[in-house]
Amino acid sequence: MELHDILYSQGFGNRRVCLGLVQLGHVTVQGQPVTDPYAEFEPEGLEFTVDGQDWAFHAKAYLVLHKPAGTECSQKPSAWPSIYTLLPAPLRQRPHKSIQPGVQAIGRLDQDTTGMLLLSDDGAFIHRMASPKHHVPKVYEVTTADPVDDTQVRRLLEGVVLDDDPRPVRAAACTATGEHSLQLTLTEGKYHQVKRMLAAVGNRVEGLHRSRIGSLPLPPELQPGQWRWLTPEELAAVA
Ligand code: URA
Repeated sequence: MELHDILYSQGFGNRRVCLGLVQLGHVTVQGQPVTDPYAEFEPEGLEFTVDGQDWAFHAKAYLVLHKPAGTECSQKPSAWPSIYTLLPAPLRQRPHKSIQPGVQAIGRLDQDTTGMLLLSDDGAFIHRMASPKHHVPKVYEVTTADPVDDTQVRRLLEGVVLDDDPRPVRAAACTATGEHSLQLTLTEGKYHQVKRMLAAVGNRVEGLHRSRIGSLPLPPELQPGQWRWLTPEELAAVA
């Protein structure tokens, strides 16, 4: 694949910009400057730098982000900074045929919720992970305003009715982890679901953190606001 095409596929800009980046000496490949944009490289496994920044070729992007509080999972946020501003520009610009450019968050967390978000530009993967049919379990660590009691835990497990659907929604798992905290596993993703379920049993969410999606925990080394590529093993485990 020609070097300018590789840069284009990785989100470095339109064709003219990518030709220019190479011709003007911004790019090195495996440690060597390359100024011929038509130089051919095997993209799989290719390591390169753009303006001194390290990159590796990824045919598709699969990322995990530790969402900080005070951010919105929207491309066009209404009041808070978008989570997409936490990602480098190429990841927000990667060309895509069927969905808008760049990586997309799979599902949304509220502005004040922290924790694990997956992002990708693979439409089929996004669809599969987000589909209610797939019931990917998501684990939430909840801090409550009032003490958690056995009745609340039992009702969350048996199912509560929310205001937009007569069918009860239930937690796949729920355990009290402290006087004011519980761990809740959900296999669906209704709007404000944890907050509404806690309200339905007479309590209130004070803090909400997503700690796991499917078999993958939020990587402990990721501080709020940090992201990284999923490893092939992590992708295989979650896909
Ligand atoms: N449930 C909520 O209420 N909020 C979230 O952000 C996620 C799940």
